[in-house]
Amino acid sequence: MKWNSSTSRLLTCLIAVILFTGSLSAGLSVDPNGFILYCPCMGRFGNQADHFLGALGFAKGLNRTLVLPPWVEYRYGQPKSIQVPFDAYFNIDPLQSYHRVMLMEEFMNTLADTVWPAHRRISFCYMARGGGGSTGCNAKEGNPFGPFWDTFSIDFVGSEFYGPLHFDVHNSNIAKEWQKKYNSDRWPVLAFAGAPASFPVQPDNRMLHKYLVWNDSIRQQAKEFIKGSMPRGPFIGIHLRNGLDWTRACEHVNQSPNLFAAPQCLGYRNEFGKATKELCFPSKGTILKTVKSIVRKMKAVAVFVASDADHMIDTLGSALKSKKVSIHRLEQTNPHLDLAILGLSNHFVGNCISSFSAFVKRERDARGLPSSFWSFPLNVSPEDEHSSSENTKHDEF
Ligand code: GDP
Ligand code: MN
Repeated sequence: MKWNSSTSRLLTCLIAVILFTGSLSAGLSVDPNGFILYCPCMGRFGNQADHFLGALGFAKGLNRTLVLPPWVEYRYGQPKSIQVPFDAYFNIDPLQSYHRVMLMEEFMNTLADTVWPAHRRISFCYMARGGGGSTGCNAKEGNPFGPFWDTFSIDFVGSEFYGPLHFDVHNSNIAKEWQKKYNSDRWPVLAFAGAPASFPVQPDNRMLHKYLVWNDSIRQQAKEFIKGSMPRGPFIGIHLRNGLDWTRACEHVNQSPNLFAAPQCLGYRNEFGKATKELCFPSKGTILKTVKSIVRKMKAVAVFVASDADHMIDTLGSALKSKKVSIHRLEQTNPHLDLAILGLSNHFVGNCISSFSAFVKRERDARGLPSSFWSFPLNVSPEDEHSSSENTKHDEF
């Protein structure tokens, strides 16, 4: 056969068909509307989960496939973050029922060479970031920025500043503007240096949590713990956020009336008051009173405690001894299992300022399960929650 232009066209066609059917048989095809990638580069799990819901809402608004990034984790003493595949904790199917998503591992292995070849990898940021009069996104500068993209051997060849566009696709025409400025033919992939989302999660994206479902392994472990290590009957799940970083964060509560996840109880415009020290770091007295009161109301037989530092097992144990209520915790620290168990409790008490608590609260709201917060409503003690508005002072420690 003579090699001419029509043969080479035929060959190109053939290769395209092979590539196309190959990706179809793997259940993957190139989304003509494009893709969104991002690094969950801010904070630990709670912050990343808030951002994830925002990114999901944003991807839906722009009608692009959301590439599910791995979770960024930090191990004590290690200088680089560790990337844990998204599906190590969550199911993909429920997310698919809301919007098109795919794992970043899959995207990089099967589609990236075609839709996002190395010479077209531009990073997106609002404006120049990184020190020293920097003129680009510096998407890989620092930890976890560098280690995150390095996990997939991604290097960027340029930066794109998307400001003044923003992510609030629910309350404006902004999705149209994104599509106009970055149409998917020219920009098949928008790769953000940080999450395309606000923190804390916007009210419109909160309920997307119903599509974020623990995978079978986590759910199974949570159920096994409840069945195997706790007595039968109603139990209360509590979150005690009391590590050293939290002590420090709570010192600024007076200057930050809506600190971190506080809008989840105080409202996004502080409709329900301003953050207090007690809301951020409830005293021992508040914790014991609250737990006792809910145990009584629910006729609970056990309390499950999740904490980053002090689980207060002995204190809670002696306070609840006469009620024959047992106190439980995981032997080995496991944040995701803690969250899954808290999600399954009959009542949950969380810390309103903590985004770790916010995860549980949202999950339970989505399933219609009851939750409350330490020291909230403000200035009402657990005992007179329903009767008087008397301003009760709690004992400090
Ligand atoms: P926030 O700082 O409370 O808003 O929540 P983040 O998730 O952003 O950061 C707190 C981190 O501390 C979590 O991701 C966990 O690694 C750890 N942590 C906090 N509370 C608990 C807990 O109850 N159990 C475990 N195992 N870890 C926790
Ligand atoms: Mn945090």
